[in-house]
Amino acid sequence: MDSIQSALEGWDKSGKLEERLEKQRQKLLADPYIKDFLEGRADVTRSMIDLGMMKLYEFKKERTHCDHCPGLENCPNMMQGFRPVLHVERQQLEIAYSKCPLKLKQEEDDRQKMLIQSLHMPKDILNASFDDIDREKQRQPAIMAAMQFAAQANPGESGQGLYLCGKFGVGKTYLIGAIANHLKGKGIQTYLVYTPDFFREMKQSIADNSYQEKIEVLRVAEVLILDDIGAETTTAWTRDEILGPILQYRMQEKLPTLFTSNYDYETLEKHLMYSTKGGEEELKAMRIMERIKHFTTFVEVNGRNRRV
Ligand code: ADP
Ligand code: MG
Repeated sequence: MDSIQSALEGWDKSGKLEERLEKQRQKLLADPYIKDFLEGRADVTRSMIDLGMMKLYEFKKERTHCDHCPGLENCPNMMQGFRPVLHVERQQLEIAYSKCPLKLKQEEDDRQKMLIQSLHMPKDILNASFDDIDREKQRQPAIMAAMQFAAQANPGESGQGLYLCGKFGVGKTYLIGAIANHLKGKGIQTYLVYTPDFFREMKQSIADNSYQEKIEVLRVAEVLILDDIGAETTTAWTRDEILGPILQYRMQEKLPTLFTSNYDYETLEKHLMYSTKGGEEELKAMRIMERIKHFTTFVEVNGRNRRV
């Protein structure tokens, strides 16, 4: 095992073998994590420590890596994303490995991503970044607003989001992609759903009731992006049972939501009325729009259609 080799390399080679071992033993026992483990453990005898020196060395080395964690992708531990934990087994010191918080978080993110199919970043904006964004003059105000949001986003403290409105192909999705990537760099979790797909998926999830769990993921996401709202076929159910509760919770908890749409506020409100039944429909659509308006800054995205 690689750890034995590196353990031996790290040892002081001067002096008698016994002295060298003793020095090494003292060094290991002074390690704060090992100290912590040994505290109050009368069952760990001197001979167990002597026989378990290699284990202690391996433990110390791997546990110390976590103090200077370079992120999950660069984790130098033998098993990426795993932390050593000392324990006693059949009168011997042993190491078990448990998943570190970063690994657990990644697994949970992956689980949620699997859960919601419409949760994705379109391929062409996967690497969208403010650094190489094309600053076409007409789009400057939108870029500024997006950068400002990305720089100041503070989920839980400020629930103010953005409403990016503009024609097809002007780069709305690209802009929110740049925001999402910037936030990711700051450790803020952003969920992006393509709204038409999301609503369709929710309807399909009624049968197995999994829509409740899916809604929950979006309700609590630190930053939520509803891309292309208005392009979907809205029904009273998606509006009142999906969109409404998600927005309601997010606004209460001050979790920002970003929208992109071909529609302005007024046209979206009409879209949300979805039927001409009048009265109640109008009121419900109005109520949702009031929430959206109150918690977003309206940003017009201008410029040429980049898809032609
Ligand atoms: P919208 O969402 O407004 O319909 P998109 O964001 O999908 O528009 O942009 C249309 C195309 O132009 C996409 O392929 C996107 O990758 C590209 N694009 C948009 N903005 C930029 C930009 N600032 N720099 C480079 N490519 C861009
Ligand atoms: Mg788009």
